[in-house]
This record gives sequence, structure tokens and C-alpha cells, in this order.
Amino acid sequence: MATRIVTLPADGIGPEILAPAVDILKRFVADVEIEEHVFGGASIDAHGTALTDETLAAAKSADAVLLAAVGGPKWDTTDPNRPRPEQGLLGLRKGLQLYSNLRPVRPLPALYDASPLRREIIEGTDLLVVRELTGGIYFGEKTRTQDSASDLNIYSREEIERIARSAFQAARTKVTSVDKANVLEVSRLWREVVIDVHQREFSHIPLEHVLVDNAAMQLVSNPTSFDVIVTDNMFGDILSDEAAMLTGSIGMLPSASVGNPDGPGLFEPVHGSAPDIAGQGIANPLAMFLSTAMLLRHGLNLDSEASTLESAVDQALDNGLRTRDLGGTASTAEATQAVLAAL
Ligand code: NAD
Repeated sequence: MATRIVTLPADGIGPEILAPAVDILKRFVADVEIEEHVFGGASIDAHGTALTDETLAAAKSADAVLLAAVGGPKWDTTDPNRPRPEQGLLGLRKGLQLYSNLRPVRPLPALYDASPLRREIIEGTDLLVVRELTGGIYFGEKTRTQDSASDLNIYSREEIERIARSAFQAARTKVTSVDKANVLEVSRLWREVVIDVHQREFSHIPLEHVLVDNAAMQLVSNPTSFDVIVTDNMFGDILSDEAAMLTGSIGMLPSASVGNPDGPGLFEPVHGSAPDIAGQGIANPLAMFLSTAMLLRHGLNLDSEASTLESAVDQALDNGLRTRDLGGTASTAEATQAVLAAL
């Protein structure tokens, strides 16, 4: 049976980076059916909502979902009654029951000098941010009046247990659980449950707890001290973008959202739709290609194919490939050619 991949190019640079990623994917998966669906701002324009029932149903029945990026100034609004592209993202993650977001951060030696941090600080960094994706403040009840607003930050024991397990399973040397337990009640439960899971199932793996403000500092002062960082939805959102800068550009970072054993995973770059450079053919497609590699590995169990693609990206960079965000002049098409040549 053919492998069915649903693709969601969405907005801004999305279509520009997804098209070459699909070409690359086809080289690795012989019998593949690509089904493109409208999503995000493009879906708001076409259907008045960022995620239609049809797109969600197609995604649910696919083997994996490859998403580029959503959003843009056209759809920016502070009116809570108007649809926003990000609602599509949240709806898709929730609808596919993908509670575990994996964001590997491994600056490549060829790019050490593209990072705003000194080489000696980032050298050897190889960490994974495991972000809880379907709970917490992004999904809690919201209230709004003219003069006040609130977002409820709520986690259940079960939600924390399963993300803690994801983190321990991915760990090689230790797990750092990041919270704000000195202030937030929800963080105190988080810490208690992580300790429970650790003692019951993973006591052989070292565990440490770090407050989020301290973690933010250590990520840029001592990133090699981390192996797996596990944290809630909002802290994970912020820390993983911070960690992205270790690699020199947000245009380098892939992600996988997984957790539902009976449904597809969602694979997407960490960056947004980069409206400031959309349509110019200069976006860095490497995070999209590395997300495709994560799709091969985590979505289709094609581990060696994933490694081959990752090595081709490394090799292209070793050979001097630099898009503008990395201080070079290569276009999206040239970057694609460089990776294909390395393949
Ligand atoms: P962004 O990640 O789109 O862009 C931040 C900066 O990084 C910009 O200067 C951009 O040009 C650059 N950049 C990002 N990706 C790049 C790439 N592949 N190649 C070269 N440069 C790249 O973040 P933003 O500007 O804060 O947000 C823009 C829009 O994207 C907003 O509407 C936001 O809501 C949305 N967004 C979507 C996602 C997602 O789809 N997962 C994530 C973050 C932001």
C-alpha cells in the first residue's frame, strides 16, 4: 500500500520550502502519495477557518503530516472573535493528540561561526527539548473583558506523566526538568509528578530540576551541560527558540510532534512563515529538510534514510552552502541543489 503523506504548505515562505522537501521525500519513499491541503492563513482566506474538518480528517488518516509554517501580518488581529492562523496549529496538534514535541538542537561544526555565541560555548552541544504540546496555558480557559483578561494554566497528573516518560525514553545522559516551582502551583505538581515517574520507572537516569529563568541563562552560557530538557508548553515554546540561536539560525531547526500510537506524527520546522522574506526565493529550506528527515525516522521508521538525508545537509554545509540567514548568498533553489548534490 502506498505511504500517504499529507502536506500543509500554508503561509509565507511555507510553499517555497515545502515543494523542494517533497521532491526530496520522494527520493526516499518509493510508493508515496502526497496529498496537499490548505491550512493556516491560506485556509482562513479560502474557508474562513485556519483548520477545516476536511484537512483535519485527511491528516488523521495519513501516515505522516509535513507542515511548513503558518501566519503573517495579513491575519494578525487582537479581535478574539476573528480567526487566526495559529488556531490551526493548536487544533491540528490537539486533533492528532500529539502531546510530545521533540526539538533537537545540534549546532553543526560547519556553522559554529554562524552562531552569535562564541565557538567554545556551543562546541559539542547536542540537546533535545521535549516540550509538552497539548496542555497548559495555551489550551486553558480564556476570559476577556474590555479591561482584563486571563488564561488558565492547568496540567493533570496524567499529562505530566506521559511527557516525562517521553523525555526519559529519549535521554542518553540525563533529564533536566524545567519549571517555575518557586512561584507556580502548576509547576509544583509538575515537579512532583516528574520525580514520581523517575523513581518508579527511570531511576537509572540522572534527573535535575532547573527553574526556567536559570535554564534560559544556562542555555546560552553552558549549553553543553544539557542532554534532554523537558518542560511545559509555554516554557518549551520560548526555550526552544532560544536554543535555536545556538545553531546560528532559526532556519536550521526541525521538530517532530508525536505521542499518539494510533495516528500520524506532525513534522515541521521550528521557525515561522518569515513574511519579511516570503516570495523572494531566499528562505533557508534546511530546517524543512531536517523535518523531513525526522518524518522519515519517527513517522515512517526509515532510520537509515533519515540519517542519509541529515548527512547530506551536513555535507552541503561543509561544502560551503550558506543561505542569507547564515551570512551567505545562496537562494532556496541553490540550497536545494547543494543538498541534492550531496545526496
Ligand atoms: P519567524 O520564525 O517567521 O521569523 C523570525 C525571523 O527569522 C525573520 O526575520 C525571518 O525572516 C527569519 N526566518 C525564519 N525562518 C527562516 C528561514 N527558513 N530562512 C531564513 N530566515 C528565516 O517568526 P516571526 O517573524 O515571529 O513570525 C512570523 C509569522 O509566523 C507570525 O504570523 C507567527 O505567528 C508565525 N509563526 C508560525 C510558526 C509555525 O508555523 N509553527 C512558528 C512561529 C511563528
